[in-house]
Amino acid sequence: MMRKTLPSGLQVNPLGRCADSFCPRDATLVTTFISKRGTSPVGPVGYCALHVEARFVDDETYEWRLANYAGHGVGPRVYPRSSYEIREPNEVEAAELAHERAAEERWTAEGRIGEYRRIVELHSASKVDGMLVDALTAAACVALHDALNEKSRARWLAMPVAQQCEVAVRLTMRAAG
Ligand SMILES: [Zn+2]
Repeated sequence: MMRKTLPSGLQVNPLGRCADSFCPRDATLVTTFISKRGTSPVGPVGYCALHVEARFVDDETYEWRLANYAGHGVGPRVYPRSSYEIREPNEVEAAELAHERAAEERWTAEGRIGEYRRIVELHSASKVDGMLVDALTAAACVALHDALNEKSRARWLAMPVAQQCEVAVRLTMRAAG
């Protein structure tokens, strides 16, 4: 999963999920680096409560881990809890997270273009009307769709998926080149 930075600067995984790799839980806590000790993440980064518990350890545990594992890449990464502010999302962040979590609903309501947006956002190829569409092609479809006027957009949306993709890639590549 690729982290996404929301307008407030909060980093989470797509759909407002915990920033830990492949964690399916919602981000419910915000961590921000507040001193010079420790390494990334800098933050604010959103995690689920379980990952905050597992990753952000007390100083003693952190020092022990550094002494034993530093530079060897052994074991899951941990951060010194004392160097981080750990709090609940503020009002702005909570609203952004709620917006992210409602993305599936928006994509479903949008129909075909929502299917392309979903592929772009989640960075994973998926079948659209039986045809496998990768993230780059889907991004071209979204870019073209959003750039077209209403009449051209309706014509493009009426095309079969293969043709939609072909037209989108051709036109967006021409625009970029
Ligand atoms: Zn998690």
